[in-house]
Amino acid sequence: MRYSQMLLPTTKETPSEAEVISHQLLVRGGFIRKLTSGMYTYLPLGFMVLQKVTEIVRREMNRAGAQEILMPMVQPGDLWEESGRWKKYGPELLRFRDRHDRDYCLGPTHEEVITDIARREMQSYRQLPVNLYQIQTKFRDEIRPRFGLMRGREFLMKDAYSFDADDAGAGRSYEIMREAYHRIFTSCGLDFRAVEADSGSIGGSFSHEFMVLADTGEDTLVICTSCSYAANVEKAAIGPYASPEAAGVVLQELVRVATPGLKKVNKVAEFLQVQPADLIKTMFYLADGEPVAALVRGDREVQSVKLKNLLGATDVEPMDEDQVWQQTRLPVGYLGPVGLEVKMVADQEVMQMVNAVAGANEKGMHLTGVNPGRDFQPMVSGDLRQITTTDHCPLCGGGLRLREGIEVGHIFKLGTKYSEAMTATFQDSDGQEKPFVMGCYGIGVSRVMAAAIEQNHDAKGIIFPLPLAPFQVIVLNLGPKDASYCQAAEALYLGLRAQGFDILYDDRDERPGSKFNDADLLGIPYRLTVGKTFEKEGKVELRSRRTGETQVLDVRHCF
Ligand code: ATP
Ligand code: MG
Repeated sequence: MRYSQMLLPTTKETPSEAEVISHQLLVRGGFIRKLTSGMYTYLPLGFMVLQKVTEIVRREMNRAGAQEILMPMVQPGDLWEESGRWKKYGPELLRFRDRHDRDYCLGPTHEEVITDIARREMQSYRQLPVNLYQIQTKFRDEIRPRFGLMRGREFLMKDAYSFDADDAGAGRSYEIMREAYHRIFTSCGLDFRAVEADSGSIGGSFSHEFMVLADTGEDTLVICTSCSYAANVEKAAIGPYASPEAAGVVLQELVRVATPGLKKVNKVAEFLQVQPADLIKTMFYLADGEPVAALVRGDREVQSVKLKNLLGATDVEPMDEDQVWQQTRLPVGYLGPVGLEVKMVADQEVMQMVNAVAGANEKGMHLTGVNPGRDFQPMVSGDLRQITTTDHCPLCGGGLRLREGIEVGHIFKLGTKYSEAMTATFQDSDGQEKPFVMGCYGIGVSRVMAAAIEQNHDAKGIIFPLPLAPFQVIVLNLGPKDASYCQAAEALYLGLRAQGFDILYDDRDERPGSKFNDADLLGIPYRLTVGKTFEKEGKVELRSRRTGETQVLDVRHCF
């Protein structure tokens, strides 16, 4: 491709709303342009990158035995009523009516539509297993579309759905997809981890997220330093505790102590000459609108997704001081479980505490000698707290470290959630009608493009991994007005192109400085420069964008 003929509007200006580097570089490099909040046009160069990702995804999905289809983007509300998600999905689902006043939505995901296909088209176990996928534009009315392609409202997704006759089959389908995902992200040239994850509103009991490691990631992962264990902190399980030696521990009486003005764990601990770990921290949340008190040890944090799962709630939000006061007339900073008339859930660790300190639910007062079981009984206890690097790997006991990650793929075992709700059944070998056992598998194709940049860039611009680069080589002609330069550069361009390389030929009448800057900004892995060394010795310079290493080649040996 000749640069002079391409719509490739690079700019020096960084859009003010572009907070993350991929957004900045995609706009500056002329890859994308914003239409409106969360919606982007892919200009030619951007579309090339998107196509590279798409081709890798398609190749590996086909190789894994999945079959490509294309479903409508507009979906009838009736199907969502059937699955129960019309009410549950929330405002991310963009709903509207047609001229006949029927409900529709723009597809944020396609479980309903695919389950409808399955119940119509698959009647017998003989037709199973089946895995169907599509690569299609999705719409989610995200509350805060931001970070460019990382969190758009309209974005490109690969979504696949597997149908099996039983759990064992569904497990195999899941494994096949897990392996395919490993191949996809490896083929993209990305540093990633597969982590155990929370299943969110799509449901199901088991899922893995594929995370591209990058400092700007929105998710925090916990990774074992000794084994392959990796998990999202939202899910990272903390094993049950060994019971403390009961013998010899004398339970103290409850004592009210004045702690005026001391609201913070550290301050209370210091004042009472105990450790933060001796305190019980009481945090108020609204779980589906109802106040709930979550108890964790003073040096721990509540993990709200674990809380949500433990409660079986759809939504949990922390309550602020005013909300707590309005709803319960209790003073934040002095909250505690003793005598509390609010639904309580406790971290398993709290249940092992003896003679703890907790708020007395009265301004300026705490209690000492607090003992779970004797002084309060939570409705439920379990794994509620955030994992930390002082914890140990649940698999091997090794050390843990935290890394930021960008979720680019998510695979779920759905089970029969949708097939049961929508009566999608097949006749099994024993003659029985059974619901399909399903799995669903998503990849944020457009997000992969952004994540690749988040992971691979420097101060000058993008450093594309070779498999995702729009062009493998950029040929710079530094003497566009000089016939001999033009001849050599042209020969390089045509010669390499004939060998099957994707080449961008910078034939523009621009100064060398701006050609070098644009080449760096666009992140094309190799740069061939027809410049001074050509003039003097008939040689061109080959430079790697990633390492900066250069090599001088004789033009005659280039092809
Ligand atoms: P997130 O937690 O980031 O909102 P999700 O859990 O809602 O993602 P899924 O429903 O699992 O996402 O969708 C499958 C994939 O689609 C995700 O792994 C992600 O890569 C991509 N994706 C989801 N939402 C967006 C978005 N708003 N913009 C771009 N890609 C997205
Ligand atoms: Mg989401």
